[in-house]
Amino acid sequence: PRRRFKEVREEEKSQMVGNVFTSVASSYDVMNDLMSGGLHRLWKERLVSKLNPFPGMKHLDVAGGTGDVAFRILDSIHAVAHRAVGDIHDDNLLEETQIFVCDINPNMLRVGRKRAQERGLGDSKSLIWVEGDAEKLTFSDASMDGYTIAFGIRNVTHIEKALAEAYRVLKPGGRFLCLELSHVELPIFKDLYDYYSFSVIPKVGELVAGDRESYQYLVESIRRFPKQEKFATMIAEAGFQKVEYENLVGGVVAIHSGLKF
Ligand code: SAM
Repeated sequence: PRRRFKEVREEEKSQMVGNVFTSVASSYDVMNDLMSGGLHRLWKERLVSKLNPFPGMKHLDVAGGTGDVAFRILDSIHAVAHRAVGDIHDDNLLEETQIFVCDINPNMLRVGRKRAQERGLGDSKSLIWVEGDAEKLTFSDASMDGYTIAFGIRNVTHIEKALAEAYRVLKPGGRFLCLELSHVELPIFKDLYDYYSFSVIPKVGELVAGDRESYQYLVESIRRFPKQEKFATMIAEAGFQKVEYENLVGGVVAIHSGLKF
């Protein structure tokens, strides 16, 4: 009976996550800016600068949603390519670049594709949108130079499976990077942050997106997510080496990284 209870809860979680992102897809980008005071942009920039993207790379951004991280990776690759003017190989390399945006929710991907068109990237062969589950990726073993997941792993039902899949699809030398809302330990800051997340966020969700429940769920999922050290251990247990993390804004978010040798 215990197992059955667990299975029901897991099914509920997947369904809940599906509903949440179907419900928030159209307001997702505005809400991100509103709730983080625009900071999510800086956090994503930091994630991408740690990745150190390069022309010709094969990259997988899981739970890529509306393409925020993928667009930044592509921008960064273009900047690198343009800096290397005169290198005749760069144009070819640029064309070989493939950034896969994988997300379980077609509504988020639809918004992402529309945003790509608005950015003039509608026909870009470098940006590939794939509907798929972080726990069961459809990509081949050792096929990716990099793997990112931003504000996504918290929503996955079995984190271990997602980490094992990340390890499987990366090439030796490939980099795993995860940006996630994490845990604040500083005493007074923690109280302020708790007030903000438990009281303010659901209210803003209700007022702006007309959806208190989804935002309530988001806040609760942050609380349930493993703390920084524990999550680092899980990444190492998936096989990654040189696992480390960086706290931003006192742990409101953390970037964990690991290398596949
Ligand atoms: N990475 C984007 C960003 O930072 O703006 C989107 C983050 S959004 C908070 C979380 C995303 O995770 C949603 O688009 C949701 O559909 C996706 N997601 C949830 N569970 C997933 C799973 N098992 N596999 C792939 N994507 C998943």
